[in-house]
Amino acid sequence: MRLFIAVNLPQQVRRGMWEAAESLRARSYPIRWVPPDSLHLTLKFLGEVAAEREEEIVGGIRRAVKGTKPFTLPIAGFGAFPSPVRPRVVWVGCEGVPSLELLQHRVEQEMDRLGFPVEGRPFHPHLTLGRVKRGVKQRTLAGFAADLGPLEYAAEVLVESVDLMQSELMRDGARYTRRRKVELEA
Ligand code: ATP
Ligand code: MG
Repeated sequence: MRLFIAVNLPQQVRRGMWEAAESLRARSYPIRWVPPDSLHLTLKFLGEVAAEREEEIVGGIRRAVKGTKPFTLPIAGFGAFPSPVRPRVVWVGCEGVPSLELLQHRVEQEMDRLGFPVEGRPFHPHLTLGRVKRGVKQRTLAGFAADLGPLEYAAEVLVESVDLMQSELMRDGARYTRRRKVELEA
């Protein structure tokens, strides 16, 4: 099964992000939007994993969260990777607060011990709102940066747990289900 480790967001925040991007969705750019119930912060993508390894992974997550108390995560602003003028991934930003950095690093370390390769790229925490469809022409995205610019959303999320998530790739996007919730503890 395809697994990843994520921080899920309160319904109110997911709704707020979704509504704040309404005017952008209305422009009908060739973007696959993440449904509001699926908006999340990925800490570690594990990929295809044998079902028998689930308990081992949960154990790794339990070790990783030791030492991180529940913390407040400020999220704010819209952006796109690699850039608003050549968007591939549209997101709402979150600040790299020390508790989040520590948590992500600890998750990375524990998953490394279990044989999941360490992410080569630096951690850029973000909440993916949408992904530009494959193979679209750049000109179909003309105006995107200007439409993204004025969008605003800010909130504070209380992070109290980390979830082991399963992803099933469907024709119209991934479907996520929570397999396990691990509470943060000091
Ligand atoms: P789709 O792949 O159909 O666009 P998706 O990206 O939402 O959908 P998954 O590919 O299963 O679904 O990814 C699950 C989560 O892991 C998402 O947050 C995704 O951004 C993240 N992710 C996927 N692949 C990687 C990767 N190679 N490195 C880091 N994060 C990844
Ligand atoms: Mg993907």
